[in-house]
Amino acid sequence: MQLKGKSACTGYSIGKIAIYDRTETKVVRKKCKDPEAEIERFEQAIATAKLEYERLYEKALKEVGSNNASIFKADMVLLDDMDYIESVTNIVRTQSVNAEYAVAITIDNFAKMMSKLEDAYIKDRIKDVREVYNKVIEILYKGTCHKNRYDEPVILLAEDLTPGEIVRLDKTNIIGFVVSETSSNSHTAILSKSLNIPALIGVDLYGYVDENGNISITESIAPQLEGKTAILDGHSGRFIIDPTDEEIEIYNKRISKENKNKKLLNLMKGKKTVTRSGRVVGLYANINNEKDVAAALLNDAEGAGLYRSEYLFMERDSAPSEEEQFIMYRRMAESLGGRKLIIRTADIGADKQVSYLELGKEENPALGYRGIRISLDKRELFETQLRAVYRASYFGNISIMFPMITSVEEVREVKEITERVKKGLKDEGYPYKDCPIGIMVETPAAVMISDLLAKEVDFFSIGTNDLSQYTLAADRTNLRIQKYYNPHHESILRQIKMTIDNAHANDCSVGICGEIASDAEIVRKLVEYGIDDISVTPTNILVVREIIRNME
Ligand code: PEP
Ligand code: MG
Repeated sequence: MQLKGKSACTGYSIGKIAIYDRTETKVVRKKCKDPEAEIERFEQAIATAKLEYERLYEKALKEVGSNNASIFKADMVLLDDMDYIESVTNIVRTQSVNAEYAVAITIDNFAKMMSKLEDAYIKDRIKDVREVYNKVIEILYKGTCHKNRYDEPVILLAEDLTPGEIVRLDKTNIIGFVVSETSSNSHTAILSKSLNIPALIGVDLYGYVDENGNISITESIAPQLEGKTAILDGHSGRFIIDPTDEEIEIYNKRISKENKNKKLLNLMKGKKTVTRSGRVVGLYANINNEKDVAAALLNDAEGAGLYRSEYLFMERDSAPSEEEQFIMYRRMAESLGGRKLIIRTADIGADKQVSYLELGKEENPALGYRGIRISLDKRELFETQLRAVYRASYFGNISIMFPMITSVEEVREVKEITERVKKGLKDEGYPYKDCPIGIMVETPAAVMISDLLAKEVDFFSIGTNDLSQYTLAADRTNLRIQKYYNPHHESILRQIKMTIDNAHANDCSVGICGEIASDAEIVRKLVEYGIDDISVTPTNILVVREIIRNME
């Protein structure tokens, strides 16, 4: 059986389902001989509850930060609320009854009153009032509560959970939360994220999809699920109950991969990318869109070594305007907060087609109209992008890079255009920075004249994805000839070395952004060859850092 929800905190967990037990302590009405002594007992219970909440607040402060912990302050205020306190003391005095009973009656009376009000916030507070004063009842009974403590890893299932319930939980054995409340601002959502425990919200416990794909509507199925094994997939929002052995195997693999990455992340985060002998390598992220900036930062990249800006031009009906591009580039540069952002101008064509540009059909698109060739041909498109990039440059640390270069003339032409664009912006009063200019070295032609090209630009980035297909005459997208598409081929390694040597001999820095740059054996070779920077997919950044830190 499978239920679907919305992810509140990503990650996977496999474990037994436990249903959150909210049965209230049963309160019995008893006559008391000394109401004043009973009131004193009540006041002491309030003081103990306050201490308990103070402790919870301190715990939450450490676990989830001051913003989220402030909910306990709000709960503590309820313990000072004179309306409740007076109501309890009145009941005890006038009816000569036990304090537990007076508290229970008070909560019921106030809850009834509050539920009649229109205000959604006040209605919401009923739960908090109940929770806080149930605590007082528990203290009055002096009963230690063993509810909701687990001896084995469990996925906790509930209609909803209050912040107090979450923080008070002994979380040692809680590996996931599944609730049916829907708000992504709900306490469960916020707290589970802060605690980094995989969680799904909005899981409908009344309707589910059975093995045949039919939706069945039932009464809450929660009680039937207690103790069953389940998989919580906090990435896709799936909650798989009674999974097959195959499903468990698949998810166990995912969990161990994720754990390995997390461990690496913790170990390598904040460390320098440096060999034991002290050689420092710049480590950057390849990104395709704004969302990837967050992934780059999370994985501790020094910046974005390749932003494939063509993705901004794809899957739409017309080209993005200068303003739209400016806003996007500026936002990305600002999010990177001073870290480098290398914007590669649109590498459209070949496998990245853009229908509204009507580029026409070609026999050999990879050897055809693509990258810089289109830019130099469709000047307006190119200049619009350059204007946006330069305008954004004022707000961050942007470099510009050009794809698919095969000659010195192309680079010179591109540089002339950038000078004209800058002059135009200056005349119009736009501020901009003089961004470093670089090129992709991804054609054998560029490698062979890399000594000449290095004199023209500030940096190179070796693109082994294309360099391999052009060197080995093997289309990178053609599965039939995959065995010929081999970026580890000696011809590629020699070209990398040649490019690095020529760049350094001409005072040009050199990085690499092709996929092979995260392969352990290649990373070691690149460092030996003297590579300055390595740029890889965000999830590979810390893997590369670890390889380099283990080198002599
Ligand atoms: C490359 O060719 O190696 C590269 C990084 O660029 P893309 O994969 O975008 O062609
Ligand atoms: Mg390329």
